[in-house]
Amino acid sequence: MEYLNSKRVEIFDSTLRDGAQGEGISFSVLDKLKIVGLLDTLGVDYVEAGNPGSNPKDLEFFREVKSLTLSHVKLVAFGATRRRNSRAKEDANIASLVSAGTTWVSIFGKSWDFQVTDIIKTTLKENLNMIKDTIEYLISEGKEVIFDAEHFFDGYIENKKYAMQTLVEAAEAGSKSVVLCDTRGGTIPSIVALATKEVVELFKEKYPHIIIGIHAHNDASCAEANSLIAVENGARQVQGTLVGIGERCGNASLATIIPTLQLKMGYEVLTSEQIASLTLVSHSVAEIANISIPHGTPYIGRSAFTHKGGMHIDGVGKNPASFEHIVPESVGNERRLLMSEVSGRATILKRIQKYAPHLDKDAPITKKIIDSLKQLEMSGYQFEGAESSFELVIAKHLDKYTPYFTLDHYKTFGEMPIRESKTSHTAVVKVFVNKESAIEVAQGDGPVHAIDKALRKVLENFYPQLSAIHLSDYKVRVLDSMHASAAKVRVLIETTDGEYTWSTMGVSTDLIEASWMALVDSIEYKLMKEGVVPSIHHTKGDTV
Ligand SMILES: [Zn+2]
Repeated sequence: MEYLNSKRVEIFDSTLRDGAQGEGISFSVLDKLKIVGLLDTLGVDYVEAGNPGSNPKDLEFFREVKSLTLSHVKLVAFGATRRRNSRAKEDANIASLVSAGTTWVSIFGKSWDFQVTDIIKTTLKENLNMIKDTIEYLISEGKEVIFDAEHFFDGYIENKKYAMQTLVEAAEAGSKSVVLCDTRGGTIPSIVALATKEVVELFKEKYPHIIIGIHAHNDASCAEANSLIAVENGARQVQGTLVGIGERCGNASLATIIPTLQLKMGYEVLTSEQIASLTLVSHSVAEIANISIPHGTPYIGRSAFTHKGGMHIDGVGKNPASFEHIVPESVGNERRLLMSEVSGRATILKRIQKYAPHLDKDAPITKKIIDSLKQLEMSGYQFEGAESSFELVIAKHLDKYTPYFTLDHYKTFGEMPIRESKTSHTAVVKVFVNKESAIEVAQGDGPVHAIDKALRKVLENFYPQLSAIHLSDYKVRVLDSMHASAAKVRVLIETTDGEYTWSTMGVSTDLIEASWMALVDSIEYKLMKEGVVPSIHHTKGDTV
């Protein structure tokens, strides 16, 4: 088994498939495309992107994804073995898998006899036929097949001979990898070690080129431990989701597994540059999934390298290794010292210098910018998701920015019941552009939609380039759910002009105000980026 002598471990991300099966997770096609791009930057080997047979959204995704230029990642379409007592080439789901157009396909089949007889209600023999027929058919269609042995570990305990037979069937049929799945997520590491070792021994003799994979769920809080111990016993593909989202208690978190394999166990997973982007990519994926990463999450959590106790702060000051198991920057995270003035400044400075390389850390203006960014972060901003708002804050301090307009007032009102036309809300926006006032009214299918339309309508009179932009995404997060309706909300919007997409943010206890702030940033960013001079001409439109 030549790959066994290698330290290379393949990473297979299923955020878009198993992750999308987590409660509360729903990705739009655009979300999925963005996540594929992020995972490609991170450097994972495979992205399982969905099941074209199960829903039209996934079909659309596979059509759209062809226009992305990916540097490394292999896209994988996911589906089941054919139905019992039929033929793979006549199975509609398998036909749509083929039509996804990916070279790689992952197929799940039953490895636990109980699942075969009691759940899909067929014979053990027919289940083996289903595995063989499906894989052989897909290969005849030019596909590379990864076989997910569903419930493998439960099958291994209950009927080892049969569980092993399903793997052999997949190998004989031509699978490139055979993945041992802990589908119920309740297996403990010692069993995973034993079973993986036995599979690897068997394959070493008969199928030395087939890579053994591990797919673990977290129902006994062992998903990461199970994945790591499988690798120690010869698995060379780890399946999981970047931030651990997935069915029930979630999948193995790749953001934990990748650095552990690479930085502690000596396996080759990513380049050191790629692994240094782990924190940022994970938070970006979480933003798109609209979930928060718990502060205490290993490696990538906000508190992963945060020190509070006096002795800890003292120790870290003398030598960080005293209380840190790795160098935080190696995974793109940062050390934070609570009760200390200097927390996070170095990191913020680095990000400021991206936009203003001439600023050095001791300049008074740098201190002012850092202070205001920290102030905003304390009030609920999170600039990882909103680079454009971040850039605007810096521009405002550097006098690179003149306001394009000022708000006189806005007003929104809604009506119930909502009529068929769906324009249930009306917004009035009055602004001043270079001392000239202008007012517009617009209707929309919600207050934010109406206010967005009214704002752009009034400003297009002065800045015609705004007619080309529109909102491509809008997300709201409640920041402090303890206070229920009085809680702060963070609004993250994405705007596009068809060519570029940018993200901005607003925070307030008032949802409409938070949305307004994000909308204003979005428009100002566009104008600033294009070098538009704040208007002194008033061309058309009503003024009052
Ligand atoms: Zn799974």
